[in-house]
Amino acid sequence: MRRLWLRLSLLGRFSLLSLLVVLALGTVVAVVLHQRIERRALLDAERTGMALSHVASRSVLHPSDLDAPVTGLRRVELDVRLADALRRSGALRVKLFNRSNVHVYSDDHAIIGRDGGPKTLTALQRGKVFSHVAHGVVDNGRGVRALEVYIPIELVRKQRGPDGVLEIYLPYEAVASDIADDTRTLVGLLAAGLLVLWLSLFNIVRRASRRLRRQALHDDLTGLANRARLRDHGAHMLEDGRRENHTAALLLVDLDRFKEINDTLGHDQGDALLCEAADRLRDVLRHDDLLARLGGDEFAILLPRLPHRGAAAELATRVRAALERPYALAGVTVEVEASIGIALYPEDGDDVAELLRRADVAMYDAKHNRSGIEAYDRARDPHSPERLALLAELRRAVEADELVLHFQPKVALPSGAVSGVEALVRWQHPQHGLMPPGEFLPLAERTGLITDLTRWVLDAALRQARAWLDDGLDLPIAVNLTAANVLDVSMPDVVAEMLERHGVPGDRLICEISENTILADPRRTAASLQRLRAMGVGLALDDFGAGQSSMAYLKDLPLDELKIDRSFVASMGGDASDAAIVRATIDLGRHLGLRVVAEGVETGDVYADLAGLRCDVVQGYLVSRPLPAGDLRAWLGSRRQADPATAL
Ligand code: C2E
Ligand code: MG
Ligand code: MG
Repeated sequence: MRRLWLRLSLLGRFSLLSLLVVLALGTVVAVVLHQRIERRALLDAERTGMALSHVASRSVLHPSDLDAPVTGLRRVELDVRLADALRRSGALRVKLFNRSNVHVYSDDHAIIGRDGGPKTLTALQRGKVFSHVAHGVVDNGRGVRALEVYIPIELVRKQRGPDGVLEIYLPYEAVASDIADDTRTLVGLLAAGLLVLWLSLFNIVRRASRRLRRQALHDDLTGLANRARLRDHGAHMLEDGRRENHTAALLLVDLDRFKEINDTLGHDQGDALLCEAADRLRDVLRHDDLLARLGGDEFAILLPRLPHRGAAAELATRVRAALERPYALAGVTVEVEASIGIALYPEDGDDVAELLRRADVAMYDAKHNRSGIEAYDRARDPHSPERLALLAELRRAVEADELVLHFQPKVALPSGAVSGVEALVRWQHPQHGLMPPGEFLPLAERTGLITDLTRWVLDAALRQARAWLDDGLDLPIAVNLTAANVLDVSMPDVVAEMLERHGVPGDRLICEISENTILADPRRTAASLQRLRAMGVGLALDDFGAGQSSMAYLKDLPLDELKIDRSFVASMGGDASDAAIVRATIDLGRHLGLRVVAEGVETGDVYADLAGLRCDVVQGYLVSRPLPAGDLRAWLGSRRQADPATAL
């Protein structure tokens, strides 16, 4: 029973409960109504009985009639004057009792002389009229119902209390059928009223419950499914797919510049963009795909029936193209980029939650690598057992000084003099050998270990700077910071404390941050950078051009250096537009009073081109690969020997 109840929907439970309550209420009201109608009929009967008895007792009865059972002529006289008169007025039977509760007269002669019952006694004692419905009393149990009215009578005025009781039976059947008719009408009306009430309540609750259900499973803004619906409905879709042996995929889509648009154009325009994005997604998908908005600028797409594995990536490409078409918002045309992570079912996860988690890992990679679309790769998943093991090792490595810094020199143009070095971290892994930062930094970034790692790098870099200074080598050293470092409010204090500890002047340190780091939270980033600047620390904008640049940040941030991303520099010889970008960036930097550094210089031609464009500094394999501190010392020595002008 309990289980049955629990299986009922909320609406089902409400209907059943309210129906029972309405039925119970209806029954109680019907019974009360019936009783009231009957009571009224009895009161009417009492009034009739009293009127009749009044006439009879006044004009016909004598006090002596109550002395003893009447006989003979007096009985005949009472038959005619009392009983017949009352019968003509509608009475069915007449009885007269004296104070001793003895039948002194009745039109049923057989009972004259018999004792009366308790009711007569009650009427005698109370001296009040009362009545009730009797069954089958008149025609010897033939089932005729009658109203029995007991009327105390006073024939001798002096006496206190009634002298006797007149009992009159009045017909009930007609009254009963009137009562039944009235009751039926009232109960009918009542039932109809209650039914209308119940139906309207049912309707209100049904509509409210539908609305609640919709709200619970859909996103208010776009009308798409929400996370709960993706989980529930998605589970069924996967289950159906499994039965039919289908491959499925979950795509997690994130709009890259949404926050910026929301902040600059306002929330209404942000909402409009999301609705438009939802519409475009709907257009790209088939009707049996499930599209959900998970919150903010994040959407999920469940593709339950893939013709082949590659279809997920093909669709992701179409989704990305659709989302990246320009949007017209409040008279402004804006563009967003989308990053998409793909997780395949069943290999990457066998439920929606697992697929979502894995697609999220892939989406993070897509964002981080700026590739736009990535499929889940277990080797890059910070939560996979292998990565978790690696993370534990990395944590130990930071503590056990297994990390090493390599230093890549930067040279000024046109002199070729070494102007400083960039410190680049590597992991000297006991089994895997020297690991490049790309293999472990994303892991550290996603887990918070980056804070300790950066402290280690700063400490090691400044210790090295101190050692060089002691050696008479004044070599400014650049260190890379990530978004988490810049947003960490304690970071400037840590830098100050380390500069102090190693006795390195602030202006010998340069902090490099990438454009994407600034975009994470421009205001907090600016505040952090101002504090570093106040210590004399130099600031460089790294990988310029590769991220989502905004000229506004360039103007507002306290920068010293602009580092052109190596992707433009490497190809500037063969690609005219890359060359144009490099040229424009050099001009831009010069006008903003910034030192421009070209990264990734690998050939003499590029070097010459950059010199021609009056780029300030170059860095790249052509000059030197990143080197351990000892090798760098040797490199500097040999460079001095070869060309004393280019040495420090
Ligand atoms: P980045 O800061 O832009 O550093 C320059 C990267 O370009 C280095 O890669 C360097 O080896 C490479 N590179 C320099 N010249 C050339 C060239 O001519 N050709 C090519 N193909 N590559 C060149 P690396 O050391 O693998 O570092 C990659 C990225 O990892 C860095 O890019 C930086 O963003 C990050 N990174 C490295 N060390 C650290 C660190 O200590 N902390 C943080 N937060 N990030 C670091
Ligand atoms: Mg750098
Ligand atoms: Mg760079």
